[in-house]
Amino acid sequence: MQPKFCSQCGHLLEFRPVEDNHIRPVCPSCGFIVYQNPPIAAGVIAAREDGKVALVLRGENPGKGLWGLPAGFMEIDETVEETAVRECLEETGLTVQLNQLWGVWSYRHQAKQSSGVLVLFTATVVEGDARAGSDSVEVKFFSLDEILDVPLAFETHRDALTKWKGRKT
Ligand SMILES: [Zn+2]
Repeated sequence: MQPKFCSQCGHLLEFRPVEDNHIRPVCPSCGFIVYQNPPIAAGVIAAREDGKVALVLRGENPGKGLWGLPAGFMEIDETVEETAVRECLEETGLTVQLNQLWGVWSYRHQAKQSSGVLVLFTATVVEGDARAGSDSVEVKFFSLDEILDVPLAFETHRDALTKWKGRKT
């Protein structure tokens, strides 16, 4: 979503090449330049002792009615690791211990003119009973054999799980 008004003085923004010729929103009144950067999300491939991985059924868009890994956007005072653990607890009721960085994905939604970065960790469930919370409506564990047949909300999650399955089989 492109900003319309200057956050400094309220004037209508213009779009024009700035410095490096990148087209940016610029305020013609006070000269303020809006630099837009992608938000960062973090999440987990959280496995139980039996190897099954937790997915959440999404209750909100994007991806309402589809499944996804527990993940969400970083708060300003968090590390990516803290975000991944917090989002998992909020969406599944499960406390996890992170194991390793699984990958970093850039994504882009052309229609919405937005983009972002997703950081995923592998993790082990150490405590808690699976229960839906936050913007999830159901939590379920899936085996390696079935997980890629689940209707997933995001291509990044599919890529991450394909890589996960490839390592395990
Ligand atoms: Zn301005």
